[in-house]
Amino acid sequence: LALNKYLDLKGNIRVFCRVRPLLQNEQRARLGPKVTPETDEVKVETSGKLRSYKFDRVFLPVCLQDEIFAEVEPIIRSALDGYNVCIFAYGQTGTGKTFTMVVIIPKISVLIFVAMLSAAFEKGKFERKVDCLQEGTKGSPGIVPRTLQHLFYEVSLDKSIDYTFTISMLEVYKGYLQDLLVPNHNRMTDAQTKRLTIQMRSTGIEVENLTEVEITNVNQACRLYWKGSHARSTSWTTANETSSRSHCLFRITISSCYKRAGVKCLSKLWLIDLGGSERFFKTHANGQTLEEGKALNVSLSALGDVISALQKRQPHIPYRNSKLTQILRDCMGKNSKALMLVHVSPKEDDLGETLCSLGFASRAR
Ligand code: ADP
Ligand code: MG
Repeated sequence: LALNKYLDLKGNIRVFCRVRPLLQNEQRARLGPKVTPETDEVKVETSGKLRSYKFDRVFLPVCLQDEIFAEVEPIIRSALDGYNVCIFAYGQTGTGKTFTMVVIIPKISVLIFVAMLSAAFEKGKFERKVDCLQEGTKGSPGIVPRTLQHLFYEVSLDKSIDYTFTISMLEVYKGYLQDLLVPNHNRMTDAQTKRLTIQMRSTGIEVENLTEVEITNVNQACRLYWKGSHARSTSWTTANETSSRSHCLFRITISSCYKRAGVKCLSKLWLIDLGGSERFFKTHANGQTLEEGKALNVSLSALGDVISALQKRQPHIPYRNSKLTQILRDCMGKNSKALMLVHVSPKEDDLGETLCSLGFASRAR
């Protein structure tokens, strides 16, 4: 409770920055001696000028997944207390958004997953390698599995409240919504995609016709997340790195019933792996990718506008400008808490994009 009060005092939106380490194959890349992360600010030197960007917290390249989760934990607790919560991973492609969010499934499920993968390879359906199984990431689950684990742990301690968790997962791509947990997922037909509509109900924002699955343990939930991620990378016909061109939204709906008082409470916890923030014209874009990039840029700047308006306590919050912000409308603002994790690269080559991401972050604070 004390922690939540503290969060309230500090406002309901926190912005963190994570600077990823150089990867093995980048050891010879020019490091940005110009990007200097410190505890609560990132300093950048460009053309002789030193600029500094303030954050609620900066995670240095040496930071581990559990240090990040330690800062995320209070906000997860808030979701159990009835707040709506959004946690975003923002940044240029390759800066570690998925790494921060990633799911590592326990041994047995890995076997099942690998079997699924090789079956998909045989059919030639699977174009994109799955980064979660790459070296170095195995021992370091990210926010999604840790959150699930934490939720189940917390509710096991409190017998006075009955909790039910359900999950949903969807992708926002070029302004279209796609359900990632539909049973027997193939590429959804246009008609099915269109059936997912965003509605304002008395209970809040609802995505109509979105699959919801009740979860009873961490393994089951992680497996579903995997399934969803897999559906994501194979869903669109021209899947050239589609996953970096779309947003992946994972929702845990927490329903709590206070036994004594007989009161029910519903809250939503969104864990969001955003599409890459890089400016589209840099990615040698042709027709398709250009279009994807534009849509992505539009929704990311709409998100930035919403956060900035909330921070400035403006009377009008421009939720309507993108599907992303429409879906999250009741989870950003009153009775809700948001956490923006801005990811940047340590490489000098990426300085331009790094500056853009830092600029986005400073608008959000
Ligand atoms: P994004 O989702 O932003 O495109 P990824 O999460 O796929 O980026 O990360 C790109 C690569 O960098 C992956 O190989 C990932 O394992 C690695 N990586 C990212 N962040 C870290 C980190 N903090 N420590 C070690 N490796 C990382
Ligand atoms: Mg990613």
